[in-house]
Amino acid sequence: MLGGGQLGRMTALAAARLGYRTHVYTPEADSPCADVSAVATVADFSDKAALTAFAASVDVVTLEWENVPPETVALLARLVPVRPGAAVLAVTRDRIREKTFINHLGIATAPWRAAHFATHVAAAIDELGRPAVLKAACLGYDGKGQARIDTATDIDAAWHELSQGKAFDAVVEGFVEFTCEISVIVARAADGTMRSYPAVENQHENHILARTIVPARIEPRVAAEAEAIARRITEALGVIGLLAVEMFVCPDGRVLVNELAPRPHNSGHWTMDAAATSQFEQLVRAVCGLALGPTDHLCCATMENLIGAEVNRWSELTAAPAARLHLYGKREVRPGRKMGHVTWIGGPLAGDTPSVLSSNGTARTVRS
Ligand code: AMP
Repeated sequence: MLGGGQLGRMTALAAARLGYRTHVYTPEADSPCADVSAVATVADFSDKAALTAFAASVDVVTLEWENVPPETVALLARLVPVRPGAAVLAVTRDRIREKTFINHLGIATAPWRAAHFATHVAAAIDELGRPAVLKAACLGYDGKGQARIDTATDIDAAWHELSQGKAFDAVVEGFVEFTCEISVIVARAADGTMRSYPAVENQHENHILARTIVPARIEPRVAAEAEAIARRITEALGVIGLLAVEMFVCPDGRVLVNELAPRPHNSGHWTMDAAATSQFEQLVRAVCGLALGPTDHLCCATMENLIGAEVNRWSELTAAPAARLHLYGKREVRPGRKMGHVTWIGGPLAGDTPSVLSSNGTARTVRS
């Protein structure tokens, strides 16, 4: 496992359940994944000797962070299968390549333009109008590396704040007045078999995922289209592993792809408690050459992230029968840091016999 955060941790736990031993390679000494892995290497992603030794000790490499440097992936791929591979990562690590790839498949995104200088942003805004969103092409997450361009925003100032005066690639996106944000996670095995999870609804606060509602409260036609889009992209990219596809649903029912993540995704954490196979086990199955598991969701659920000091609710949450608590073992609470999550097991799906319900059958009302 490349990367030592909570996504790696939950994958290592799923791997252990299937009898595998995980070796995590992480630049961070304090690693939630290392705490539950059989072996840990703490070294920089540029450390060739450490990477070579790591490759010699494992059968297959996967990752929980798509921004692992391309040179690191290239070195490892000469020695051991890396899944998903360099070609997938080259597309998903750069918003310009990613949006180009998606649009070439005939799949819609928000209207966008590439920008390499402040003058490009001004020209894009002339075409797309305000408001718009300026996003770093690489290395942005949880709203970092983004700026909203409103009526009063000074474009030069916004550019300089994001670029810090260095060479910088970005995209300018037209602002989407969406009715909701959804995501679909697809698993794809080496033989091309795919399984997708149902579309779920994601609510963000301060640019960080606050909660995921399962299933998304959208029309079946929209859900089916979202699933078809996600499968199409996964197949075209040739992913072996997982692909999370984040999308906007527009008031007229159109679905626009926002971004891709070739790894387990925060919006798939509910699968640990309310799906037949968790996204983490599914990743292990895909990269280790096992059959993919069924992706049925077993009951309604709401996943809430525990961000920063919210983790202090842990004691109250352990006492709630409908709550399934997951803590990441992070030693330090910091504002904005994902410390854990809780999945609230809700009522049965319409027309279904509930096969997973909390001991007292409580359904929790979703705060929205
Ligand atoms: P991203 O990093 O691209 O996932 O963006 C983070 C969040 O910003 C998204 O989940 C949306 O809530 C919001 N956002 C991003 N792009 C747009 C857009 N073009 N129009 C409206 N909201 C957006």
